[in-house]
Amino acid sequence: MKIISAKYILTCNEEFEILENHAICFDEKIIDIDTLNSLKQKYKEAEFIELPKNSVILPGLINTHLHLEFSANKTSLNYGSFLPWLNSVIEKRDELLKNSTEHIKRALKTLQKSGVTTFGAISSFGEEIELCKKSPLRTYFFVEILGSRPDAVDLLFEDFKHRLRACEDLEDERLIPAISIHSPYSTHPILAKNALDIARKFGYVVSTHFMESKAEREWLDSGSGEFCEFFNNFNPNSKPINSPLDFIELFSGCKTLFTHCTQAKKSEIEKIKSQNGSITHCAVSNRLLGVGRLKIEEIDESILNLGTDGLSSNISLNLWDEMRMALMLHNDIDLNELSKKLLKMATINGAKALNLEAGEISKGKFADFIVCELDSSVENLAQNLILQTKFVKESYIKGERC
Ligand SMILES: [Zn+2]
Repeated sequence: MKIISAKYILTCNEEFEILENHAICFDEKIIDIDTLNSLKQKYKEAEFIELPKNSVILPGLINTHLHLEFSANKTSLNYGSFLPWLNSVIEKRDELLKNSTEHIKRALKTLQKSGVTTFGAISSFGEEIELCKKSPLRTYFFVEILGSRPDAVDLLFEDFKHRLRACEDLEDERLIPAISIHSPYSTHPILAKNALDIARKFGYVVSTHFMESKAEREWLDSGSGEFCEFFNNFNPNSKPINSPLDFIELFSGCKTLFTHCTQAKKSEIEKIKSQNGSITHCAVSNRLLGVGRLKIEEIDESILNLGTDGLSSNISLNLWDEMRMALMLHNDIDLNELSKKLLKMATINGAKALNLEAGEISKGKFADFIVCELDSSVENLAQNLILQTKFVKESYIKGERC
C-alpha cells in the first residue's frame, strides 16, 4: 500500500473535479483519496511517495485507436485526400512493413513516455503482438477482419480466427483480446457477423472505422464517387456491401468504438449512442486525410474518446500532441471548455468505451495514473497541461511504477 500526494489531482471524473493538496492511497486499485495528513493517520503502514511541489496527478491516458503496423511511415504516403492516401498505403505497404520492429518499439516507447497507460492497437497481421506483450502498457489488441468478396469469406474468417487465437493464447490483464471490423465499405456483412458473434460470446470489445470520408459516404449511400473506380479496379460492377444503418445494427449487443464518423449523419450517431457505442475522434488523421472535421460540439460528450490513429495518418502517437492539435482544429469551441473535454475524452471516456475500470481518480478504480510537473493556476490547469506537456514524469499502472 502506498500514498502519493500532489499540488493538484485532476480526477477526470464526470464533474471534472480538481482536488488541491490532496493525496491518494492505493495498491492495485485506488483505496482512498483525502488530505495527506488524514491518509497518513488512517493508513499508518503505507509507504509515502514524495513528489515535487508543483506536481499534478491525473489518470493515465487512454489512446483508444492506433495502428502500430505502419509506424515506419514518415513521408511515404500522400496526404490531403482519402483515396490518394489509401492508394499510397496499398502501393507502399510492403516497404513500410519491412523492418518495422524498430519503429514499433519506438512507437511503444513514445506511448509510455507520454503517459498512455492503455491503448487500443488495431492489428491487420498480428506481427506486433509480441512487442505489445512485452510492453508494460495495457493493450486492447483489436484483431482485424476485412474482405468484401463473398467467395473468400471462409478463408478470411479462418485466418482471422487463427490470429485471434494467437492473441487469446497471450491474454492476461495487460493484453486484452478485442475485435476490429475494418469498415462498412471493406468488410462483407457475413464476415462481420461471424466475427461479432465471437465478440458477443466472449464479451470482447469491438472497434470499427465508420464514415471516415466523403468517398465512403457516397459509395455507401449510392454506389457512386471515388470508391466506384477504386473497387471496379478489383472487381467490375462492384456494389456497396453494407448500408450504413444496417452496418451499425450488426454491432448491437457489442461494446463498440466507431472511429472517425466525420461524415456520419445525426441518425447514425444517435443509433451508435442507442446501442451503447462510442465515437473515437482522431483529429490529426482527419485533417491529414482531408475528410472533414468531426463536429464534436454537436455530439454527446460522454460518447467521445480520443485516438491518434497510426503513424500512417499522423505525425505523432503522443496524445498530448493530439490534444494540442485538437485545440487548434476545433477553434470555435471555448479553449478552457475544450481542454477539459479533451482530457475527459483521453481518460474517463476512453475507459468507459473499453469497459475498463480506470480512467479516473476515484475509489475502486485501477491505480493507473500519471504525474506531471506544472506551475499553473487551478482555473487554467487543463489548458496549461495540454499546452505544456510533452512527456510525463511518472506512470503507474495497477499501482506499479513503470
Ligand atoms: Zn484507424
